[in-house]
Amino acid sequence: MKKLKILFSSSEVVPFAKTGGLADVSNALPKALKELGHEVRIIMPKYKVINDRKYVLREVIRLKDIPIWIGDSVKKINVKSAFTPEPFKIQTYFIDYRPYFGKEGLYVDDATNKEYPNNDERFILFCKAVLETLKLLFWQPDIIHCNDWQTGLVPFFLKTLYKDDDFFKKTATLITVHNVGYQGNFPAESFRKTNVDSTLFKPGSPVEYYGKFSFLKTAINYADHITTVSRQYAQEVQQSREFGLGFEGIFRARSSIFTGITNGVDYSVWSPEVDTYLPANYSLNSLSGKLDNKKVLAEKFGLPYKENIPVIGMISRLVDQKGFDLLEEIIEPFVKMNLQLVILGTGAPKYHTLFKQLNKKYPDTIGIHLNFNEEIAHLIEAGSDMFLMPSKYEPCGLNQMFSLKYGTVPVVRKTGGLADTVIEFDSESGMGNGFVFEDYASGQLLDALKRAVKLYHEPKIWKKIMKNGMKQDFSWNASAKKYYKVYEKILKR
Ligand code: ADP
Repeated sequence: MKKLKILFSSSEVVPFAKTGGLADVSNALPKALKELGHEVRIIMPKYKVINDRKYVLREVIRLKDIPIWIGDSVKKINVKSAFTPEPFKIQTYFIDYRPYFGKEGLYVDDATNKEYPNNDERFILFCKAVLETLKLLFWQPDIIHCNDWQTGLVPFFLKTLYKDDDFFKKTATLITVHNVGYQGNFPAESFRKTNVDSTLFKPGSPVEYYGKFSFLKTAINYADHITTVSRQYAQEVQQSREFGLGFEGIFRARSSIFTGITNGVDYSVWSPEVDTYLPANYSLNSLSGKLDNKKVLAEKFGLPYKENIPVIGMISRLVDQKGFDLLEEIIEPFVKMNLQLVILGTGAPKYHTLFKQLNKKYPDTIGIHLNFNEEIAHLIEAGSDMFLMPSKYEPCGLNQMFSLKYGTVPVVRKTGGLADTVIEFDSESGMGNGFVFEDYASGQLLDALKRAVKLYHEPKIWKKIMKNGMKQDFSWNASAKKYYKVYEKILKR
């Protein structure tokens, strides 16, 4: 294996800033690549939530007052640097420009609950700053690994503004699409802010999407390779509009350089033996601690503790993609099934209202925490008996994989990464790790829950299902090797 220099460019990275799975991946994959022997660095925006003191951010002498053009105006940015936590200590650079990144909320303004109106400029600036930073550092990566629309213009700038720059002659790019629901489509006028030849923007061009300037489409068309986060999702987004969300033809046109690589789990953070957030640790061979977590979980959610009643956990961004409308449809029969539901999430106001109402109506059955809370997320994984993900689509999904390791049996819709990782339990063969339903239909969700609850009351079988999941290994090592193969392929071209 050749040792590569890899820059991992992402708009969110654990532990610095997180809204969803992208942040987990952006910490875990660089770690796994470093373990394979590569030289990896990370670059991200310096948001207000990233505390300079807590993470020991330092200024980088050469990287001060760097001019970045956004259309006709020039912005002066700084770059700071820190390391991800011990023992991996990956060097991370932060693009610091307060007028753009110095607010609460990564993409959405907390005050208005709307996306920042200047998200185009924020991430045009970020992508340009990534390339300028590399030049000023004299660090020439073999690969710039980009993620989602926010970093999607890096491949584009390399092949336009920097196409004659010898510094990047040997640098190739990869874009990983974590969710095609987020496309970064902006008004045509935004294109001017890139300072790229304006004749490139026209109907049917690689950057244009229904009259808009699409950062994701641009990335898919200009990157040297495209990946997405599960094998199944890579198929789905090419097959139909239902999953491709308008991008199916764009993916199909690039299918020879499009690969699905299922995300892994960082077991140094997400396993019940070592989880530092838990009141009680437990393991495959010593499960008793799980009940202690279940007790604390009930307390935290204000529910009466009942040992023999199944607790179903959900941790999720509260968005349409995640299937809450199905749950709402079956809520009456659901609460009659003698179970409890705990939900941790934040997102669309309509779901905040819905879950507040449900909690009020069924205070002993449905518990809620409508915020972002790492500690409670871990407690739900450990203290619940089942984990529910009825997603409309799910590019990979991490929580079902966390759940498997925690002996928390997943009940999921068969789509994307959920289909790659959860298999319906079969009583005859004793194989399978969860409960799966095919169609996006509330009746099927209810049936799957009924099958799960029935077997929950047969403790011997239930333990078998739990253990089948706990024994599985979705660690990052295997996925990182697949990424290496992709990098190798790009560099050979
Ligand atoms: P997505 O990327 O679509 O949000 P994933 O399942 O891939 O979905 O990843 C979600 C990640 O975000 C998981 O690590 C999950 O635990 C975490 N998460 C989501 N909502 C919350 C929340 N309200 N509090 C804490 N963690 C959350």
